[in-house]
Amino acid sequence: MSHKWILLGCILIPALACAQQQAHKTTTNHRAYALKLHRQALVFDTHNDVLSELTMKGYDISHRLSVGNTDLVRLQQGGVDAQFFSIWCDGSYGKGQAFAWANREIDSLMAIIHRNPDRIALATSAHQVDSIVAQHKIAALIGVEGGHMIEDRLDYLDSLYKRGMRYMTLTWNNSTDWATSAVDETRNADRLSHKGLTAFGREVVRRMNQLGVIVDLAHVGEQTFYDALAVTSKPVLVSHSSVYALDPVARNLKDDQIKAVARNGGVICVNFYDAFLDPQFSRRLDSLIAAHPRLRDSLQQLYPETMDFQIHFLQALPQAAESIKPPLSLLIDHIDYIVKLVGVDYVGLGADFDGAEAFPRGMNDVTAYPLITEALLKREYSPEDIRKILGGNVMRVLRANDP
Ligand SMILES: [Zn+2]
Repeated sequence: MSHKWILLGCILIPALACAQQQAHKTTTNHRAYALKLHRQALVFDTHNDVLSELTMKGYDISHRLSVGNTDLVRLQQGGVDAQFFSIWCDGSYGKGQAFAWANREIDSLMAIIHRNPDRIALATSAHQVDSIVAQHKIAALIGVEGGHMIEDRLDYLDSLYKRGMRYMTLTWNNSTDWATSAVDETRNADRLSHKGLTAFGREVVRRMNQLGVIVDLAHVGEQTFYDALAVTSKPVLVSHSSVYALDPVARNLKDDQIKAVARNGGVICVNFYDAFLDPQFSRRLDSLIAAHPRLRDSLQQLYPETMDFQIHFLQALPQAAESIKPPLSLLIDHIDYIVKLVGVDYVGLGADFDGAEAFPRGMNDVTAYPLITEALLKREYSPEDIRKILGGNVMRVLRANDP
């Protein structure tokens, strides 16, 4: 090597090292700033299924668990200040069963709260959320996912309100006698005895408005969606749905629906479930399952329920599982889409942790929320707008629904 090259090397190598160091420092600074912003903001997620997925199966979420996506330790790590816990049972719980089950799930949440008075407290108003968060505790709110749990009775609606319910999803995947679901309106339309809200359904919405129970329009069919918006006098919530234009599944919202929620002053909380974000995810998952028939057969025997089976299948093949998941940037695309369509005031977070099989790469549990703040900063969202997305918008809707 000539002296000239040695000299150039002496200049270039330290310069390169310096540039690398600078880039590393910038990333570290960026991450530290994002974390600080995240810790200061009120982070409010509107949909978590841990009660039905873990608590009702006997797990104590007071401790750090090695299963599931959620426990109190991880919620605190993820900087989650307020969480709507979903009360859920499927449509097979009919009259005489569904309301009782909802009460048992609420009992289980209250037991967790009583065991951990220094870490979590029940909130039934925006004011209570603020005061619980100021005490550095998690504000727990109750959302009932499926109108079948009131068993066609307004007194049951009142009773669940008295226990703390502050939103009710008008339907889950199953329709009720008074409201039709997205699944039924799109797949079983010819078998429906009615479509949208009946007269009793409109009465339910009006009673929810009176009490201060937010009308949640996740899971409902389009007819029910527009019928409910025509009746409600308060801003609505869509607790865990994403964007149809980016992933055309019946559970996601079309552009006109997003615009209608914005006109109502409501909020759409984006679902993190891979199949609601990425139109190719289910196909990749099916191919992966088909490529491992022995694992599939043995796990299907152990876990006959689809969600349980898929969770365990993906856990058995961690590297392959990561490779078929979409990146976090796709989740941010869904948020960004809503912001560009109607503005930053109508979007929030409704992850569906413990209610879905797979989430974007690196987003495996409730500790991952700070990554969203970091990604929004990278897309040049202002701290003020990020605070709205993380929880400010949901707080506005909660406040507007207070009686
Ligand atoms: Zn759901």
